[in-house]
Amino acid sequence: MYLTFDDGPLLGSENIISVLQEEGVEATMFMVGKHINHNKYRKRTFNRALQEPLIQVANHTYTHANGRYRYFYSDTNRVVSDVQKMDDILFKYDPEYQVSCCRLAGRNVWRTPTIYRNDPGIPKKYHESEKYDALSDAGFQIYGWDYQWSYNPKNGEVYKSPETLAQIIESMYKRGKTKTKGKFVLLMHDFSFRDRFDGKETLRSLIQELKFFGWRFERLSTYL
Ligand SMILES: [Zn+2]
Repeated sequence: MYLTFDDGPLLGSENIISVLQEEGVEATMFMVGKHINHNKYRKRTFNRALQEPLIQVANHTYTHANGRYRYFYSDTNRVVSDVQKMDDILFKYDPEYQVSCCRLAGRNVWRTPTIYRNDPGIPKKYHESEKYDALSDAGFQIYGWDYQWSYNPKNGEVYKSPETLAQIIESMYKRGKTKTKGKFVLLMHDFSFRDRFDGKETLRSLIQELKFFGWRFERLSTYL
């Protein structure tokens, strides 16, 4: 099981780090460069994640496309330089930094040595595939996800209970509905785990459900 958390550091990230430590499970946090530089509290959260051996901090672009995805993905240089800018931060601060593991903003794209997939929701006529290829050529491994714990876009609250989600995961696993057999990449978002939604309890419940089903947790650096 590869738990992945996107868009941090944000409110909610601290709860995630604490629960991962308390439960002793590995995970990957895909962070956004401009969120790290937003203020000293966010920077402190970034450093806390870097120092936690259970957590792999990975690249989720510098700007997150500023929310304008079609514009962002219309220019190869813009995409590559934005990912590179975040990579420079990781290279500078992460002593364990190895190969660049990134997830694109707003796109479920895969470019790894074994998986080549575009986001099925993006029409071919936008030619985004070339931009993903350029990133891959520049040495980045791009990871999407098998399933997203979907949330209310207005406030980030997750729609499904941890129990329901764990059953969906189990069903997908048994039917072989993942990119790699026996492996599951779950996408979650940091702001879903704020205190106002009992973030710590929600995440803890999910992890305990998954442990009950027998899942082992790893960082994405071991996926291949
Ligand atoms: Zn994102």
